[in-house]
Amino acid sequence: MHELGIVFYIIRDVKKAAEENSVSHINAVVMDIGEVSTIVPDYLLDCWRWAADREEMLKGCELKINTIPAVTFCEDCRKEYPTVEHGKICPHCGSGNTYLLRGNEVEIKQIEV
Ligand SMILES: [Zn+2]
Repeated sequence: MHELGIVFYIIRDVKKAAEENSVSHINAVVMDIGEVSTIVPDYLLDCWRWAADREEMLKGCELKINTIPAVTFCEDCRKEYPTVEHGKICPHCGSGNTYLLRGNEVEIKQIEV
């Protein structure tokens, strides 16, 4: 299960940050999750609850998810457009010469103690 793997990465990073800052308990972790990342937020939250409550430092710790809208950039007309609506083809000029600017993030944004 992909989401569980991500959760273990988050826990590892959060514990490391907590140890570096001599923090004994974390109240909440805020994540940036891109709209077109492969993460399903509901699964991620389920996995988080299961895994976090097994860690003394993370018992009851809340996972908050910021969804980052996906935006694609067109190299031909130099415009941006929403990825989810239009995919890889630019709605302004019809070009397929495009790349994802943002929306693929899976990042820890903030740790609340
Ligand atoms: Zn274009």
